[in-house]
Amino acid sequence: MLSIKNAKAAYGKIQVLHGLSLDVGRGSVGLFGPNGAGKTTLINTILGLVPLQSGKIVFDFKDVTTRPTHERVRLGISVVPQERELFPWLSVYENLVIGAENTPLGRDDIPQTLEEVYAIFPILRERHGQLAGTLSGGQQRMLAVGRALMARPKLLILDEPSLGLQPSIVHELFNILKEMKERVGVLITEQNVRESLRVVDKGYIIENGRIVLSGNADELASNPEVEKAYLGL
Ligand code: ATP
Repeated sequence: MLSIKNAKAAYGKIQVLHGLSLDVGRGSVGLFGPNGAGKTTLINTILGLVPLQSGKIVFDFKDVTTRPTHERVRLGISVVPQERELFPWLSVYENLVIGAENTPLGRDDIPQTLEEVYAIFPILRERHGQLAGTLSGGQQRMLAVGRALMARPKLLILDEPSLGLQPSIVHELFNILKEMKERVGVLITEQNVRESLRVVDKGYIIENGRIVLSGNADELASNPEVEKAYLGL
């Protein structure tokens, strides 16, 4: 569904991605690595917010390397950014409806999509009239995911969804992500490798803008290097 080949990207003279390749097919993929490794930058190149110096990005059989962001979004890429970027003074319902904008969906599709999102996150139905800014951190993260799903994406990208959440909420959120990968491709960047490996089918380790290791979740979980560096054993 998504194929990145030899992606190079820089901010001015600072080279951040050094020829990175990654594939997301069906199922879910984790991208793990320390702060500053280039995870968010990679997401921004997938969205077209950071241009590639060289390399290629193919999404859903289309070369999108030079296409503008809004076109990529319309093709079915939806991102839950690290900063939640909800509208705190709008209700849960209003935040969700905004998620369906700039998508090929018509107004008539919104009620059904909303029902699907409410079925995934019943708490959002309960709180539909509440101002987003007054939700708990975990509920806000669920709203951010729900809003991204309102676009009916083919690929859902989550940038460190566990950040700042307490462990029980992370566990709950990742259980939901695990079910979701049946219907949508998922790419998760995370520092919480232990929880992520429960959910993803395969993973990549990124360090200094390079993929240094990749494999399916079981392989990574039993890899001594991964255990030492990321699983705290
Ligand atoms: P984090 O988990 O902290 O977000 P990350 O793996 O997502 O880490 P990036 O945010 O992609 O890493 O950052 C990669 C490198 O690019 C870092 O050295 C960072 O300082 C640098 N960088 C990120 N954004 C910019 C920017 N807008 N201008 C200049 N340098 C940047």
